[in-house]
Order: sequence, then C-alpha cells, then structure tokens
Amino acid sequence: MAQDTTGGPIDGLGAGQFSGFWKRLRANPPGWRLTIGVLGVTTVLWVLGRMHTPSSHAFWPWFGPSMLLAILAVGLMAVVLLATVRSPMIEPLFGGLDRAIRLHRQLAPWAVGLIVVHVAMLVPMTIGEGGSLGDLLIPFWSPTAFTPDSLALIALLIWTGFAYARWWSYEGWLALHNFIGPIFLIGTAIAIRNPGTTVVHYEPLRFWIWLLILVGLGAWAYRVAYRWIAPRFNYRVEAVTLRNHDTVDCILRPQDRRMLHEPGTFVFINRPGPEGKRWELHPFSVSSSPTERDLRISARMVGDFTRALPAMAPGEPVEVFGPFGGFTPHRYARYRRLVCIGAGIGITPFMAMLRFEASNNDFRRIWLWYVARTEADAPYDDELQDAVETADSYVDYELWLTSEKGRLTAQQVMEAVAPLDDYAVMLCGTPQFVRAMTKQFVAAGLPRERVIAEDFYFR
Ligand SMILES: Cc1cc2nc3c(=O)[nH]c(=O)nc-3n(C[C@H](O)[C@H](O)[C@H](O)COP(=O)(O)OP(=O)(O)OC[C@H]3O[C@@H](n4cnc5c(N)ncnc54)[C@H](O)[C@@H]3O)c2cc1C
Repeated sequence: MAQDTTGGPIDGLGAGQFSGFWKRLRANPPGWRLTIGVLGVTTVLWVLGRMHTPSSHAFWPWFGPSMLLAILAVGLMAVVLLATVRSPMIEPLFGGLDRAIRLHRQLAPWAVGLIVVHVAMLVPMTIGEGGSLGDLLIPFWSPTAFTPDSLALIALLIWTGFAYARWWSYEGWLALHNFIGPIFLIGTAIAIRNPGTTVVHYEPLRFWIWLLILVGLGAWAYRVAYRWIAPRFNYRVEAVTLRNHDTVDCILRPQDRRMLHEPGTFVFINRPGPEGKRWELHPFSVSSSPTERDLRISARMVGDFTRALPAMAPGEPVEVFGPFGGFTPHRYARYRRLVCIGAGIGITPFMAMLRFEASNNDFRRIWLWYVARTEADAPYDDELQDAVETADSYVDYELWLTSEKGRLTAQQVMEAVAPLDDYAVMLCGTPQFVRAMTKQFVAAGLPRERVIAEDFYFR
C-alpha cells in the first residue's frame, strides 16, 4: 500500500521508516497534526490520571504501558474512522478526502498493532502473577475469563485479515467496513469499564475517551447511512462518447443545482437506475472545467461499473457526491511554477485544470507531461494540445510515449525544467507510478512538501 497524497507520506510507518516521520509530518500536516494531537491529549490525560488510579498490578514493566497502548489504540481508531467520512465538512481536517483515506490506510494497522501489543504485554504479567492465560485469551475458558475482551480481540483480528484479503470485490471490501463500528464500540466499552484502568478512575480521561467513542461511532454511522443521508447533486446523462478502445467520456447535465468544484477534485457517482434503488459509488476525477455547465467524467473501462458506462442512455439519472480531494492548484497558490505529470487515465485532473486555464486569469508557468504507452493509449492528446493554445498560463506540453522513449524519470523532467528549481510537482496515476516518481523527485533533492500527488486507488 502506501502512496503519497497531496504532498503526504509515501509509505506507511513501517519498521525502519521512522527517520522520515518528521518529514512526512511536515509534508502532510493536517491529518498527522490531528493524529498527534489526539495521541498527545490521550497520553497527557492518562499520565495525570495515573495518580488517581489504585492498581493491584505492578505498573512496570507490563501493566502500565499495556494500558496506555490500549487507549492510544482507541484514539487512533477514532481518527481512522473519522478519516473515512465522505463529507466536504470533515475532509479539510485531513487536507482532502484522498489524503484522509491514505492516512486511514497508514494508521489502521497501527491501531490494530497497538491492541495486539497491549494483549501481548499482559501475557508475561499474567504468567508472573500466576494467572490463567486461557482466561486472558480464550473466550468462555472459565467463569472468570475475560470473555468480552478476548472476543473483541478475535473479531478485530478476523476483520483485519479479511480487510487485507485480495479476493474481495471492491464493493464487498467496502461493505466489510460496516462491521468495524461494532468492533470499535465493544473494544472501547471494554477499555472504559475495566475496573483497574485509569479511564474508570479519572473523570477528564473518561470524558475524553467518551468523546473519541462518539466521534468514531458518529463517523461510522454516517458512513453506514451515507446512501440515505449524504447530500448529492442530481444529474442526467447528456452524452456518452468512446474516446478509444478502453476510455469513455460521460457528459452529465445538472437537473437542479450545479455542483461547484475546484479543478483537479473528484466526485463519487452512483447510477440509481429506473427504480432509484441501485447503489454503487465509484470515484472519478472531474475532467471538465468548473466554468462549464456540464460535468464530464473520463473513465478507463477496467471492471463491471466502468465497462457498463458506454451503455448509459441519454437522460439516465446519475447521482453525484462531492466534490472531494485536495489535488488542485488552487490550494497551492504559493507555487507559481508547476510541473504536472499524468500517467494514463491519471491525466483527467490535469484536463480539468488545463481547461480551466483558459479563463482563470492566474498566470503560472506550467509543464505538463501526458505519459502513455502508445498514441492509441493517449486519447486526450488532441484536447490537451488545443487547451494549451488557449491557456492563460504559459504551458509546455509533451506527450511522452513509453513505447518509444521508455519510462519518464524525475531526472529527465528536472533536466527539461532546469535551471529553475522552485517548482512544485503534481503527479497523478497508478499508486506504483506515483510512488516511484515521488521517490525519484525526493531523492533528486526536491523537498517532499513540493511533491503533490494523487493516485486512483482507495483500497
Ligand atoms: C480519487 C480517485 C479518482 C479517480 N479518478 C478516475 C478517473 O478520472 N478516471 C478513471 O477511469 N478512474 C478513476 N478512478 C478509478 C476508478 O474509481 C476505478 O477504476 C473504478 O471505480 C473501477 O470500477 P469498476 O467496477 O469498473 O472496476 P472493478 O471491477 O471494481 O475493479 C477493477 C479494478 O479496479 C480496482 N478498483 C475498483 N474500484 C476502485 C476504486 N474505487 N478505487 C480504486 N481502485 C478500484 C479494483 O481493485 C480492480 O483491480 C479514480 C479513483 C480514485 C480513488
């Protein structure tokens, strides 16, 4: 997993990656600041609360740290759940939904890992005190077994195993996320009710944990009820055009309100069908300019949903949710020079940006590379060439065919742009492309916060 987002972390915080932690924090501030704030408040309250907590166990080396890890996991889980809320009101906390989803992906294994370490630390303590490991780990082992605790742990581990299984369809995998709320609720309820814990004895900490529980459960409930309560824009299909063998443009016309978006942002769309009941949300960058009345989605046909798009009839209703994401030059007005690289269908956000260039009165120096395997795989080349002609900014555009020139590298881009070096780079494509290019740019000396990236992957 793990890619950069709008200047955000490229990889999860795996072993040996702590050296880059502060760089990532600097590069992807909002979500990480929130996370560190939550963990900080939790730790401070817990430390203060220790003074009020009688305990039948020795604090060191196992019991105290183990309890702290448990409530830190609760804090992380609350942030993880909040990060998945598809709401334009919540996403600024994370600097955009794309960043939020990536943070969610990075933090979730840590939340589960903390719970596992929390339990693992109780094992030597239990053995040392002559207790029963069966009571600690196995549900219904004896009348004194910690059955709710061990059941919650097992449910969490099974859920995590499923979440990382590759054989799920995207929709099945999304549906799996509906189960995490009850697991979170049971886990935190245990943390709160356990008589030996600081949470029980220290009111400010108890209040804080309740707040985290409410935030986590609220986020989960909103997600589960999204289908019914999420604000949406009603559009109808105006036209559908095949652009090449695997790419289709869908032009959508607003029925009542028009959605206002920043160029580069994305939406979820649903085709409710004639009965209005079908529900299958898929994210797509908007490839039309915000100044246009119609909304255009340009999709590569990779699976069930996208392959069915050409069959959409004019007039068919489409629900549009959003806009989401922080991958837009508007948020980076401080960078007057932009290097933009879109690989394959990753060109779509740049199409919106370039179309908007025709009217935005915001002169910038822009270099745009459209990376595709062959000319046949670059259906938007003509449109981009036309857009360059009418752009307000000064744009250098190049179609980079990998079948002829090999892979585009950061080194080649930097040489083309030299001697200038005060630009930001915007990248969009597959996670592999985004990750590789980000690493190359950072290795070549570009500050990480100047690499602004989006990949088309939410899983
Ligand atoms: C922020 C964002 C913006 C995007 N913008 C565009 C765009 O402008 N044009 C475009 O063609 N595609 C875009 N995508 C990808 C697009 O959402 C998926 O290709 C589409 O949902 C696939 O649906 P499907 O049923 O046709 O394929 P499926 O049968 O569901 O899957 C085919 C393959 O695509 C993967 N996939 C399916 N759904 C998603 C998903 N939501 N996110 C990531 N991978 C998925 C599956 O794991 C599988 O490998 C974007 C994705 C994101 C996250």
